[in-house]
Amino acid sequence: MRARTTEGREFDLALEKLDGLKASLRGSVFVPGDAGYEESRTLWNAMIDRRPAVVARCLGTADVIAGVKFARENDLLLCIKGGGHNIAGLAVADGALMLDLSLMRGVWVDPAGKIAHAQAGCLLGDVDRETQVHGLATALGFVSLTGIAGLTLGGGFGYLTRRWGWTSDNVVGMDLVTADARLVRASGDENADLFWGLRGGGGNFGVVTGIDYALYPVGPEIVGGLVAWPASEAPRVLELYRTLAGQAPPELTLVALMRPAPAAPWLPKEMHGKPIVALLACYSGSPGEGEKVVAPIKSFGQPIGDVLVRRPYAQMQTLLDATQPKGRRYYWKSEYLPRVEPALCEKVIEHAARIRSPYSAVILFQIEGALNRLAAEHSPVGNRDARYVLNIAGSWERAEEDGANIEWAREAWKDMKPFSTGGTYLNFLSEGEGPERTEAALGKGLGRLAEVKAKWDPENVFRTNRNIKPA
Ligand SMILES: Cc1cc2nc3c(=O)[nH]c(=O)nc-3n(C[C@H](O)[C@H](O)[C@H](O)COP(=O)(O)OP(=O)(O)OC[C@H]3O[C@@H](n4cnc5c(N)ncnc54)[C@H](O)[C@@H]3O)c2cc1C
Repeated sequence: MRARTTEGREFDLALEKLDGLKASLRGSVFVPGDAGYEESRTLWNAMIDRRPAVVARCLGTADVIAGVKFARENDLLLCIKGGGHNIAGLAVADGALMLDLSLMRGVWVDPAGKIAHAQAGCLLGDVDRETQVHGLATALGFVSLTGIAGLTLGGGFGYLTRRWGWTSDNVVGMDLVTADARLVRASGDENADLFWGLRGGGGNFGVVTGIDYALYPVGPEIVGGLVAWPASEAPRVLELYRTLAGQAPPELTLVALMRPAPAAPWLPKEMHGKPIVALLACYSGSPGEGEKVVAPIKSFGQPIGDVLVRRPYAQMQTLLDATQPKGRRYYWKSEYLPRVEPALCEKVIEHAARIRSPYSAVILFQIEGALNRLAAEHSPVGNRDARYVLNIAGSWERAEEDGANIEWAREAWKDMKPFSTGGTYLNFLSEGEGPERTEAALGKGLGRLAEVKAKWDPENVFRTNRNIKPA
């Protein structure tokens, strides 16, 4: 079978060699044509269509160790799949051995110690589901089907970020299989250099098998949801957004978005497909206080839909899932913003009016708070001056629409880039964004990351990622 070496050279991998891999795994091994192969190699973004030579669907740490050993013994390119949600499709590489961790979804909660240990194949919703049993949560992202591994290794932000920082700021330890197939622990006390690199440097240092998160009391009931208006109201609604976000207590996270209205039951049928502006809010403190805080949103103008209500926190975490289904085509452009200026709001309105698909959106996420209070060198995510994230999120269905939708996203991005801090979010980079964009994401931390890489992965075995070359 055709496979690729770590350096990318094609070679023939003898099929009988796979017997050894099969014998050393508790999980399954798939090659093209096997049931399970297509499911494993398929990612959230249908733009990505790559074919690993072999898939090892791991069931535990021992399987990961066996997979890494096999790859090293056969000089086989390695790629790692967590939740498979990376926009650029970094989880899968042509001709590689793919370690598919998607069945490693156990979560153990220590409610007294306020720690959750999650296996690296967990989706965000797996962690929320188990921690909410105890009325606890950690800072994860906005869509419950995203993988914890990719999200945490690249930073991570969501409704709790204003209170507790990047997701990676809330990691207290990780278990990792190194390039020489050893299991090591990275935490404040053990392998501190590796621990630093893992909290933002992406999957550059090894295969993470488990992540320990600090937990905080949240919910189970919170106030959250969306209020929407016709796009003609956008100048006033975005001004309201600016004002409210500027005064918002840390428990409140506000997101503004513009897009064609989805065919959602809470929006009137006659508005489906028509341009709207919406505010998404989550108040993660007491629901009584939350109702007071979001009242100015609910009473503003004449909304066409309002589902900003008391609801379970775990449900809030799934609210956007249906708008981001697996199998559509996606292309994002993103920047960190120091503030939301009126001139930027005008650009948001202008480019939202040019959206070429029923599913695309221009989104402003509020993230300011805890992350700004830590020193730049606290972790490689850096960007501690970022207060908002701008995401120009292209989403459409057919390959023949690629050109128009990608062009829309790029044009909008070029026009709005002057409002950026100069930094961008590693985890929102799309396919084709080069090393200069990795530099924009990791900035000053890159030198130190290259040193950590040189110590833990000197031969650059883990390279199917936003790659950091060993120093
Ligand atoms: C619909 C959607 C919503 C999103 N919302 C948010 C959000 O609210 N907040 C946010 O911060 N981000 C968000 N993201 C971005 C998200 O953080 C990235 O897409 C992230 O890469 C997803 O992680 P994953 O495990 O699903 O990715 P994968 O595609 O599986 O992997 C991504 C990268 O991480 C590496 N990797 C995966 N698992 C491991 C592991 N165990 N050990 C070492 N390396 C590993 C892979 O090799 C690859 O390089 C969103 C993405 C999508 C598609």
